[in-house]
Amino acid sequence: MLSFNEALKEAKIALGKHHKETRIASLLLEDMFQMDQVALMMRGTETISDNALKSYREAVERVIEDYPYQYITGRAHFYGRTFKVNSHTLIPRNETEELVYHVLDKVKSGKIVDIGTGTGAIGLTLKLENKALDVYVTDISSDALRVTKQNMDALDAKVTILNGDMLKPLTDKNIKVDVLISNPPYIAESETDEMSASTVKYEPHSALFAEEDGLYFYRNIIEGLEFVLNTDGKVFFEIGYKQGEKVKDLFLSNWPKSKVQVIKDINGQDRIIYAEWVK
Ligand code: SAM
Ligand code: GLN
Repeated sequence: MLSFNEALKEAKIALGKHHKETRIASLLLEDMFQMDQVALMMRGTETISDNALKSYREAVERVIEDYPYQYITGRAHFYGRTFKVNSHTLIPRNETEELVYHVLDKVKSGKIVDIGTGTGAIGLTLKLENKALDVYVTDISSDALRVTKQNMDALDAKVTILNGDMLKPLTDKNIKVDVLISNPPYIAESETDEMSASTVKYEPHSALFAEEDGLYFYRNIIEGLEFVLNTDGKVFFEIGYKQGEKVKDLFLSNWPKSKVQVIKDINGQDRIIYAEWVK
């Protein structure tokens, strides 16, 4: 028999021993009992039932085995909002919040598309932060788009969801946009040793990895820009920290009159490509 406090302490010790963040212990318990931190504290000395303790220990064990805790709670935070996530979607990253920040800074109106939207983190946030934007979001994964739709409804962000490969959903429907944004898969297969075990083991492979040393999706989009982008359109990409110059070169070799900028993230690493496209 353990109290809530004792169960929490046991979980924190176990997570700490395996170099996992100890705050996950409280997040999992709060989620299991649908309580906030204060409610949990107030029940601290109450006994936790055997069944609940068993499930809680199992959840902690899964996290120790690298399963992302966000897939257990089914939620992740992005730009101050809660997004549903599951194993079909990438868990939105802090770096991507910076991408959204730069788009909002530079784009005040018009038609925009978020290619490979996953949870919808980028596209839905842009719509919620600036209602003047007419937002399209796409993904090749219909499993991911089911999550996008749930987030769209839960957050009450009206965007158009399209299913398909890269630019195809736009070209099929003759849709042209003023701004194209994408955080595509960009990790080279050779780079798995630089990634966290939980990402490699449990996040969708198809959301992370790209051929051509991670550059495949950038090249594909850049080469097709004239079919989807209006004159003087803008492009924003999230990129890997070693890809700044490569993606810039790729852009300029296709569209030499364009203005292309590599923007660093708060850790000082190349993270965003911002291009003012000139045909
Ligand atoms: N935009 C989300 C974010 O920033 O959190 C998810 C980004 S994740 C790195 C890349 C997304 O691209 C995944 O949701 C994946 O399903 C999607 N994707 C992969 N291949 C694609 C393709 N050929 N066409 C469209 N989307 C694709
Ligand atoms: N930045 C993510 C990671 O390090 C990858 C995102 C992506 O491939 N677009 O896991």
